[in-house]
Amino acid sequence: MANSRSGGTAQFTTLKVRLYPTPEQAELFQKTFGCCRYIWNRMLADQQRFYAETGTFFIPTPAKYKAEAPFLREVDNQALIQEHNRLNQAFRVFFRNPERFGHPRFKRRKDDRDSFTACNHVFTSGPTIYTTRDGIRMTKAGVVRARFHRRPQAWWKLKRITVHRTRTGSYDCYILYECPARTPEPVPPAPESTVGLKYSMEHFYVTDRGKSPDPPHWLKQSQEKLARLQKTLSRMQPGSKNYQEAVQKYRRLHQHISNQRRDFIHKESRRIANAWDAVCVREDDMNRLNQLAARGNVLDSGFGAFRECLRYKLARQGKQLIAVDRFVPSSRTCSACGYVTPEELSARRWTCPRCGAALSREANAAKNIKARGLQQYFSTQ
Ligand SMILES: [Zn+2]
Repeated sequence: MANSRSGGTAQFTTLKVRLYPTPEQAELFQKTFGCCRYIWNRMLADQQRFYAETGTFFIPTPAKYKAEAPFLREVDNQALIQEHNRLNQAFRVFFRNPERFGHPRFKRRKDDRDSFTACNHVFTSGPTIYTTRDGIRMTKAGVVRARFHRRPQAWWKLKRITVHRTRTGSYDCYILYECPARTPEPVPPAPESTVGLKYSMEHFYVTDRGKSPDPPHWLKQSQEKLARLQKTLSRMQPGSKNYQEAVQKYRRLHQHISNQRRDFIHKESRRIANAWDAVCVREDDMNRLNQLAARGNVLDSGFGAFRECLRYKLARQGKQLIAVDRFVPSSRTCSACGYVTPEELSARRWTCPRCGAALSREANAAKNIKARGLQQYFSTQ
């Protein structure tokens, strides 16, 4: 699981990983959660006392409490410092907007979640927190075994970790990374490294070389199943037990199809973005595609999502997605001689009456889209 947000020039990403601590490490985590709550409550109590006595705002640092509470030394000092920072932050937002944020309150074991946060510090000897192949190295706990669903990129900077105990007793770790934005070198399109794509109802797309992705049979099959289920539903008595079950089944299948489609779109767009330096598509009328999709048998408006995926996957590599004006008659133009036939073409193949070229309707259109795209690109450079 990951999410990204941008702030200024820096971008942050969080990776969530499952931790598998040893019994000793789990015990240390429990101690750390307890110490964090303890230090928060002590600092808050002292702040309130200072405020009542002197009318000034002051929060003592965790170091102050270590002599009287030596158990605080057993846990990661960074986690205690985080509590200090958080308490300061809680007061800052409270002073700014008391109604909205409320006064910081004491933490109680039963209604505050078990968690602690520690920042990474990079010394000349190395960072205090880092990930290994199958674990995370923390300051006091050492290497805690972890399972990663997604790997951090080499250039990401580990900022901090939050260890959290779930209600079921397992441990999760949220790792916050700073991901410096990397501006890729622009890749100029060349005819031999550019591909033209024509949207196709039957094949999803056809390239200027007549290639199309593996027809996603599974998607079609699932959609047929969905249509059948829909028909069954419409004949059933709403509210009955069978009806409820069928609705559940319908929802699950619907979810399954949208997962399949997303996978397909991501895989295909990645493949194309890696293989080509520029991609030309037609700025299709999405309304028209949606109308077609509503009538069924079209891969939904998946092509719009596909184009968006393609756009950012190319952009990350400094490459171009070139959108060709949708009023260009790409299907009716002969890609060999430029002759534009006045007829609407529905046949798969046609022969150019002027030059005699035998043309495959969709590949011919893709060829025109590519030529037009390159022309468009170079005329604006
Ligand atoms: Zn021709």
